[in-house]
Amino acid sequence: MPLRPPGVSDEARFVEKCLRCFQCVRSCPNKIIKITGFESGLNNLFTPHLEFHEFGCDYNCQVCQLACPNFAIPLQTLREKQSAKIGLASIDEKLCVVFARDTNCLVCEEFCPVPEKAIKIRKI
Ligand code: SF4
Ligand code: SF4
Ligand code: SF4
Repeated sequence: MPLRPPGVSDEARFVEKCLRCFQCVRSCPNKIIKITGFESGLNNLFTPHLEFHEFGCDYNCQVCQLACPNFAIPLQTLREKQSAKIGLASIDEKLCVVFARDTNCLVCEEFCPVPEKAIKIRKI
C-alpha cells in the first residue's frame, strides 16, 4: 500500500475523497509527495503518495493538509500531525555504516526531532 500524507489513516476514505488535484504535491516544501501511477492499481491511480529517498516530512510542517481542498488529508493540530504514523522505518544493514563498515554513527538519533527520541543507539 502506498505511504500517504501524514494524518491519513483511513485508506478507503482517502482514495474516495481525493480529487487527484495535486495541490498537495505542488505545496509540499520538501517535494516528497508524488503522484501514483499504474504500479499500485487503477484504484490508486493519480493519488498522492510519499517518497523519502531525498528528504523526510518536516516535523513542523502542516502544509499539505491545508492545501487539500476536499479534506482527503484530514485537518489536524500540529501535535496530532506530529504523532501521526506514516509508516514503519527499518534499517538496511547493507547501507547503514554501523553495520556495513563497523563505524560509529549517531546521525539518525541526533536528527530525530521527537524529544524522547524514536531512534536510540545502543552499545552492545
Ligand atoms: S507535512 Fe509538509 S513536509 Fe510533510 S508531506 Fe505534508 S507538505 Fe510535505
Ligand atoms: S490535495 Fe487532497 S484532493 Fe488534491 S490530490 Fe492531494 S490529497 Fe487528493
Ligand atoms: S544515520 Fe543512522 S541509519 Fe544512517 S548510517 Fe548513521 S546510524 Fe546508520
